[in-house]
Amino acid sequence: MASPDTAPALALQLSEAVTRRSLIDGLDYDVHLDLRRAAASFDSRTRIRFTSGAGSTFLDLKAEAIKAITLDGDDVDVDRVRQGRLPLTLTAGEHEIVVDAVMAFRNDGEGLHLSVDPADRRPYVYGMSFMDAAPSIFACFDQPDLKAPYTFHVLAPTDWTVIGNAPGTQAEPGVWEFESTQPLSTYFVTLVAGPWHMIHDEHDGIPLSLSARRSLAPYLDADAEELLTVTKQCFDEFHRLFGIRYPFGNYHQAFVPEFNAGAMENPGCVTFRDPLIFTSKVTRGERIQRATTVAHEMAHQWFGNITTPRWWDDLWLNESFAEYLGNRVTAEVTEFDDAWIHNAWTRRQWGLVADQRPSTHPVAGNGATDALAALQDFDGISYAKGSSVLRQLNTRLGDDVFFGGVIEHLTRHRFGNATMADLFGAWERAGAGDLTPFTEGWLRTAGPDTLQHDAALRALILTPADADAPPRSHTLSVALLDGDTWRHESVEVSEAETPVPAAEALVVDPDEQTWVLALADPASIDVLIGRGGGPNEPQVRAGLWNNVRSALHNAEVSPAQVIDLAVVTLPTEQVDDAFRSLVPWLSGKAVPLTQEPDDAAARLHEAFRERVDSAEPGSTLQLGALQGAIATAGDPAVLHRWRQGQDLPDGVQLDLAVRWRIINRLAVLDAIALAGLDAEFAKDPSTQAGVSRAGARASLHTDQAKAWAWARFTGAEPATNYELAAIGAGMWAGSDLSHALPYVDDYFSRITELQSVHSGWVLGEVVEAFFPLAPLSAQIAEQAEGLIASGDLDVTVRRRLVDATDELRRRLAVVEKYGAPRVGASL
Ligand SMILES: [Zn+2]
Repeated sequence: MASPDTAPALALQLSEAVTRRSLIDGLDYDVHLDLRRAAASFDSRTRIRFTSGAGSTFLDLKAEAIKAITLDGDDVDVDRVRQGRLPLTLTAGEHEIVVDAVMAFRNDGEGLHLSVDPADRRPYVYGMSFMDAAPSIFACFDQPDLKAPYTFHVLAPTDWTVIGNAPGTQAEPGVWEFESTQPLSTYFVTLVAGPWHMIHDEHDGIPLSLSARRSLAPYLDADAEELLTVTKQCFDEFHRLFGIRYPFGNYHQAFVPEFNAGAMENPGCVTFRDPLIFTSKVTRGERIQRATTVAHEMAHQWFGNITTPRWWDDLWLNESFAEYLGNRVTAEVTEFDDAWIHNAWTRRQWGLVADQRPSTHPVAGNGATDALAALQDFDGISYAKGSSVLRQLNTRLGDDVFFGGVIEHLTRHRFGNATMADLFGAWERAGAGDLTPFTEGWLRTAGPDTLQHDAALRALILTPADADAPPRSHTLSVALLDGDTWRHESVEVSEAETPVPAAEALVVDPDEQTWVLALADPASIDVLIGRGGGPNEPQVRAGLWNNVRSALHNAEVSPAQVIDLAVVTLPTEQVDDAFRSLVPWLSGKAVPLTQEPDDAAARLHEAFRERVDSAEPGSTLQLGALQGAIATAGDPAVLHRWRQGQDLPDGVQLDLAVRWRIINRLAVLDAIALAGLDAEFAKDPSTQAGVSRAGARASLHTDQAKAWAWARFTGAEPATNYELAAIGAGMWAGSDLSHALPYVDDYFSRITELQSVHSGWVLGEVVEAFFPLAPLSAQIAEQAEGLIASGDLDVTVRRRLVDATDELRRRLAVVEKYGAPRVGASL
């Protein structure tokens, strides 16, 4: 037994993957895992059979310790494993490698994640192989185009249930045997193991199941019917659209703790973040989000799992496709027929903002030559922009051609790999005609074109993202205010100036028909403020606020005007997603940029309170407005009364989520002590409460609180991924930044070594969450830019730092144009 060297694993290069793919074929994995210790580490024994040409390559292996390795029965010196790789020199013919290793359980949401539920001390395990973590579970050739069947054998504590990609049975207590899978890519091989609470069902011959931690059992039971109904409706619709049966046997949906992403599409065993099992009352928007996530992962079973990108540079296609179909199918066949309005509120800005960053990239062909660099492009561009572009393509081609091409693609590359060129070839064969101009304009050119309404000119002014690229034309609608009614008018925009009818106010692209940065014009906003309200139609309201958010992002509207508009529209808002999107944006961005933040927050608070009181008691609309009222509350006395259940508006439930929102706001206002947080946690010591407590603790206005938070940033003290995000937000919350400001220099000096403390997904989250944005300091922007220019940053750190610095520069531009806040801290 030997401990491998501690140097970080190397990221796979495209050239290495191409060489290895050309050498290796006929792979078959047999994996034995012994999870019975359920602490720190597990045993992993992998037998890999394959045929090979003569040549050199390597096996991926990220072990804590290696007991033995054999190649074709001969011992291999385990010390040859370096930086996560075992070099192999192969002769032509059939081979067998056996690796007997001890692997570390991880606690960062990657590899085999082990966590202990704070509610009852029960341990739970799940696998997350995406995108390069499979070798920390089993030895493998880790790249998407070396697909293979897997046969798993798992030993586990006798009270555990183990679920994998293929159906499994418990042969005897604690001994789990699984059928061989269909050919799978390493990145979606998984395992879910623990004393889960399970629910079983069946639909159209497909065994369905759900699982969650036992402490969530009553909540999973309460949500099961909704989840299973959505799943069944989506299965029917995907079968209709694709005409290809779901081929992976069972369909299990596991809700797992501390999961980084929303969900992961592992064939037959999808993993979801378990805050999606609702333990408190939620808005309709949160239910739509969950339904579209369920549908998104189901779409991947076909597009991504049956046919998989050859390399990471085409992974956008998986996500864009799943995002588009997830929204579409949810809107068309489930009770959540307003999924596109949800998309307008919650997803579009994510994509537009990403597409305006200095780090923007084309949707397709990101040019990623190594796996880690590609991970950085899993952003709003790959999801929201890609989805919007595919929706445009679907409108243009029609369903017959669109799905005709997709079906041919999935049939031709069944259980194999393909590229974007393969799919576009299939579309062209299905009758799409030459798609080159479309591909060049929308998929290979980065950045959005900008559209701005000029009321004086009665025209839309088009500014292309890239003046040298072939021009893109836009088909879209505008909503025009004419007297008391809004009407939609279709326009074609391909020139610098496109005339539009005269209107008192105008909203650009409310139906999200094109991908464009539409900036609200201040004259239209003034009209709406003067009239005392916005449009009634939900899609137009969402479009209006997309125009407004984009305008503030570009310093084309003043924060004061934004607050004025919010104050007149919030009291008549009809969609709770509006609150879900606008509450963090208004309180986190617009309010701190106004010259009088306290006054702005107070006016918003009154507007939210008005909606809390006018909404139907107990409605989700009331809940959304209440969340806004809490986030903008300035009077601790009101919050303390609410917390004790006094003076609560009729219909409001003081559940865990509402209680912790109140506590968190009290911490930001410096109106609660650490003991108060601990007392609240003791009442219900759940994971969710633990995360909330961590965020609130970091928000406290004391040197001790900031030192406590900083020890989590530096890794001196452990914290879970969810806690780290909450702590970073708390670090810079509130208007008194004096206790946090001493850490600015340390942030920049430590960031260069942060990748040795945090890794993967969590590393990016930590860089972003702890970035000192709140001080609105040009000096901080210069510090960040100096570091970025110095060149030797980890790729993840660099990307997040570039984006955070851009956000800071944009906020400084707003302050410069419209005036700096008159209160708050400065350097
Ligand atoms: Zn996805």
